Amino acid sequence: MTALLTIESLQAHYGKIAALKGISLQVNQGEIVALLGSNGAGKSTTLKAISGIVRPTSGEIALAGKSLVGCAPHQIVEAGVIHVPEGRRIFAGLTVRENLELGGFTKRREKAAVKEGIEQAFALFPRLQERSQQLGGTLSGGEQQMLAICRALMARPKLLMLDEPSMGLAPIIVQEIMNIIKEINRQGTTILLIEQNAKAALKLAHRGYVMETGRIVMENTADVLRTDDSIVKAYLGA
Ligand code: ATP
Repeated sequence: MTALLTIESLQAHYGKIAALKGISLQVNQGEIVALLGSNGAGKSTTLKAISGIVRPTSGEIALAGKSLVGCAPHQIVEAGVIHVPEGRRIFAGLTVRENLELGGFTKRREKAAVKEGIEQAFALFPRLQERSQQLGGTLSGGEQQMLAICRALMARPKLLMLDEPSMGLAPIIVQEIMNIIKEINRQGTTILLIEQNAKAALKLAHRGYVMETGRIVMENTADVLRTDDSIVKAYLGA
């Protein structure tokens, strides 16, 4: 297995508060890895550190062996790491198509390539194609989440990081989003997924890490985590 993302002994602070107390994890090429844990465990901070929004106090973050520590967020995007933050943040006043065009815009991208990217995105998300001229802000919560994921894909990420894509969505829509995440992975994108909905996440992830107050307290294959008594009790609502 080839490591795509490697994190070693990562620490991060907000002022004096330690949000990450030395975590190590790895995401291999082609995997879906779930990052689980209760509120405030440090999951979002981990993604923010990877994408350069939060500066680590110490430790290492590397993509395919190249350090990302100290890189600016736009350089990390250019390296192929795309972060879909919690709460989606699409452009409410722009149409679906315009939102996607913005996601595809980079210094080097040709117009034709952006158009092709949008066609591919629409193949994956037919519901968005039907709504290509609709304003982002008028989409349902599930459709907005699809748009946020779709916009991230426009950048052709090597690593796609999703922060709670199921947040606030009805169970049937959660299932739809999870199926799409699985399909994106099947088409070759490596995924790091934060989920409160551990049950749904462990159904599609290959492996998972459990965080508690800034540390990783457990790591295993999704199959093992799904049946682990303490996980079941703490996160799977048994
Ligand atoms: P949630 O599921 O609630 O989003 P999380 O596991 O993603 O939780 P983080 O958002 O990473 O947790 O937060 C980790 C810790 O850092 C928490 O104690 C949180 O209160 C704190 N924290 C997060 N952001 C800030 C900030 N901007 N300033 C100060 N403290 C912060």
